[in-house]
Amino acid sequence: MCIFCQIVKKEKGADIVFESERVVAFRDINPKAPTHILVVPKKHIGTINDMTEDDRELVGDMVFSAKIIAKEHKIDDGYKLAFNVGSKGGQIIDHIHLHLLGGKN
Ligand code: 5GP
Ligand code: ZN
Repeated sequence: MCIFCQIVKKEKGADIVFESERVVAFRDINPKAPTHILVVPKKHIGTINDMTEDDRELVGDMVFSAKIIAKEHKIDDGYKLAFNVGSKGGQIIDHIHLHLLGGKN
């Protein structure tokens, strides 16, 4: 099982800040900004390239969740959302995740 599936199933610890039926979000262990949260679907999908038609709503749910989390963390005046795709795109963990970065001036 992949590391993010383990976090989703609570078999591995993480600082979870948001959870819904389909999505979980937790603080990045190696933050690259004052607020750095990873928004992760509970369903295992390797990369954005592995998305199917059925996943369109789920990925929309990830973005919508990020919007809510940004407001909760008071960074909604400006933040970055990013998907790394594949190793050439900087993706290390093979389970899709949306980086939510903010808190810089
Ligand atoms: P990627 O480079 O795949 O887009 O991003 C993976 C992110 O996951 C990295 O920013 C890395 O710091 C974070 N990460 C890796 N392993 C863990 C972990 O076990 N727990 C948490 N909370 N974050 C992790
Ligand atoms: Zn997984």
